Amino acid sequence: MDWASAGDEAARILSGYLRIPTVNPPGNETLGARYLAGVLAGEGIESEVLEYAPGRGSLVARLPGSGELPPICLLSHIDVVPAEPEKWSRDPFSGEIDGDGYVWGRGALDMKGIGVLETMAMIWIKRLGIPLKRDVILLAVADEEVDNGGIRYLVEEHWDRIGCSHLVNEGGMGIRDAFFPGQTVFGISVAERGALWVRMTAHGEPGHGSLPVPDRAPERLIRAIQKVAQRKAEPEVLPAMYEVLYRVGQTRKGLERAVLTHPRAVRSVLVPRLMKDPLNRTLISDTVQLTGLTGAKSPNVVPSEVSAIYDCRLLPGHTPEAMLAELRALVDHDPDITFEVISELGSNVSSYDDPVFAALAAHLVLGRDDAVAGPVLSPGFTDSILVRPKGVNAYGIAPFSLTKAELRTMHGNDERVSVENLREGLRILFSTVVDVSAVPGVPLGPDKADR
Ligand SMILES: [Zn+2]
Repeated sequence: MDWASAGDEAARILSGYLRIPTVNPPGNETLGARYLAGVLAGEGIESEVLEYAPGRGSLVARLPGSGELPPICLLSHIDVVPAEPEKWSRDPFSGEIDGDGYVWGRGALDMKGIGVLETMAMIWIKRLGIPLKRDVILLAVADEEVDNGGIRYLVEEHWDRIGCSHLVNEGGMGIRDAFFPGQTVFGISVAERGALWVRMTAHGEPGHGSLPVPDRAPERLIRAIQKVAQRKAEPEVLPAMYEVLYRVGQTRKGLERAVLTHPRAVRSVLVPRLMKDPLNRTLISDTVQLTGLTGAKSPNVVPSEVSAIYDCRLLPGHTPEAMLAELRALVDHDPDITFEVISELGSNVSSYDDPVFAALAAHLVLGRDDAVAGPVLSPGFTDSILVRPKGVNAYGIAPFSLTKAELRTMHGNDERVSVENLREGLRILFSTVVDVSAVPGVPLGPDKADR
């Protein structure tokens, strides 16, 4: 394989994909699905576009295998979050490939870039005529960013045709200098925190704003918010966290190695530090974030009800019901404070003792002594959280090495992906899928899948 030219081809296809405006809302993902369908059709790969609502299409394409193993799915989402063009240095929908080797545009990282690599991995398997022991299915779905409507529709209405045992999606990524300078850590997401979105409402006697009376709904709500803010988060380190720290620790020496490779030292030395940092805390605890306040009517009217909205995120094993009970206890079971669940989603985990996980981890770091791959928890959820209950082992990884500055462009300004990352990422994805899906012993061609 000539990964350089294969990566350049992927960059050109991505450039066209980024020019298609699939900003959600409204999404218009059918346009993106048709674009990918056209690329596949050019290679003789059939696909279908399934809409759960007008314009909200998801693409399903399949390379058939012998059926010796259940299918593997390569999943991406077609929709992107909005961009503020005036804050970008380039047009967010230009798909421009600049002189420094970057492809620009909203979705370059999250996650049209990955969607194109998954499409190209399918295409290369087809071009090389690789015999498969399982179906390889490409899913590019609508509406991940707002309501997960595309994957919900496929899981609820079309799962009989998909029925995969494994799925590769977004979730984790390779972060340069993640723990130590000069080292890239590829965190493959094996679990995602669940969510409880809840409205906390304070009730009280309504009245005139000119006649202050204590204990009306707004004051009651403020007191309840203060009580919730006193919540003390309990750290809990998942096995996946110990595992990735262990793998990083094995590349270090001395004290660093001693701490990272021993769970007891992780708990006593590292966890207190992680809990002090708002971002790291999300990896080892449930979080409760106030996201809004509602209820004002008019400046001179004391309303009978005012509400606070909370976004609670839950570690695996922690249920939305338990979090709701914790919130009620925090406000001392005040009968004038009520809770209403807006939405709930339980957390779930995939085993990392798995051949697909092992193949991904191996190819991510192949030939590199400056990189480590291991399992991680995603602080927020992706479409994977909706497929794991179907018995699917879902792994999340953007197969890119990103600087912390590049990471901030996801959902931010100046989102772009380097052509180098596309070349490497294609090699990683293609090699992984071939490893776990190809009939063994059949030669691929003169230089096989080595880089
Ligand atoms: Zn995404």
